[in-house]
Amino acid sequence: MNKELLRRIGMAPGVPGFETAIQSVATEILTDCCNEVRTDHIGNVIGLRKAKKPAQYNGRTPRLMFAAHADEVGMMVKHINAKGYIHFIQMGGLAPHVAQSQRVVIHGKETVRGVIVPKGGDDTKLNDLLIDTGLSKEELEKRIRPGDVITFENDVSVLNDKMWVGRNFDNRIGTYCLLEAMRNVGETQVDVYACSTVQEEVGLRGARPCSFSVEPDIGIAIDGSMARAAYVDDKDNLCEPGQGTGIYVIDKLTIGHPRLVQYLCDLCETHKIAYQRNIGGGTDAAAIQQSRGSVIATTIGAPVRYMHSTVQLCHADDMDATVALMVKFMETAHTFLANS
Ligand SMILES: [Zn+2]
Repeated sequence: MNKELLRRIGMAPGVPGFETAIQSVATEILTDCCNEVRTDHIGNVIGLRKAKKPAQYNGRTPRLMFAAHADEVGMMVKHINAKGYIHFIQMGGLAPHVAQSQRVVIHGKETVRGVIVPKGGDDTKLNDLLIDTGLSKEELEKRIRPGDVITFENDVSVLNDKMWVGRNFDNRIGTYCLLEAMRNVGETQVDVYACSTVQEEVGLRGARPCSFSVEPDIGIAIDGSMARAAYVDDKDNLCEPGQGTGIYVIDKLTIGHPRLVQYLCDLCETHKIAYQRNIGGGTDAAAIQQSRGSVIATTIGAPVRYMHSTVQLCHADDMDATVALMVKFMETAHTFLANS
């Protein structure tokens, strides 16, 4: 795996609606391996890698869309009180017990570091929590203002052996796999649209217009798969970290296209790529599947433990398996469509 790329992707901030930093990394990498790269008005970055020997499907070159969402769960400054403590709102799904005792970075006119003061109590709400920066109200108001976004400070590192830890592996593992697959793919007979989408964590807001403009024949979201984890009943979890990429059969928003799911599983069998069948939470695939006249869609992705926490875990072998599956699928997607 490409450790340097994963670190870069995992360290770039990208709260929903404010993904400029991570999107500039995506743009830079895609510019090297695509024929065209553009950014739309909502902030999606769309790289097009054209078919070398174009196949035909419904009278045109077939289009494969990959979508990995670039945003991460974070916060936004709501109010600075008289004592200099900061009230904040969540940007994406954030639980109070996750936020407490975390170090944060406020992205204002100046960057300000702070901590979310633990409050304890089972009924603590995010609304009750405050950020302490050690600065007074007057000092803060020179540096930040309501509407500035806040990210957790956690970095990306190896926990041990092949297990990595990061604050935003949902979905920077997806971003990593997307960019790494595009760097490694050979010739294709379909046009591949590599989309780094925005605002997934607040309701798939980027993927919807992205899919509308791309008009894909097949859409695959790249996200985390549900992983066996501490505190969770085994019956609720299907994927084992280190045992391969997850292929989504179903999630709360999408029923994977059955023939596509089967084709992806068969492709893994043929090329000895480790995979697991996953029952997931909900991804950009829903927005793609339901765009225009409907699209053949599902999701794949490495198992990620503790999504929406600041200590998300992912196994290097599963990232490699995801990249391998994406590469093989790009190179054979025309044969899948020929039988559709
Ligand atoms: Zn996600």
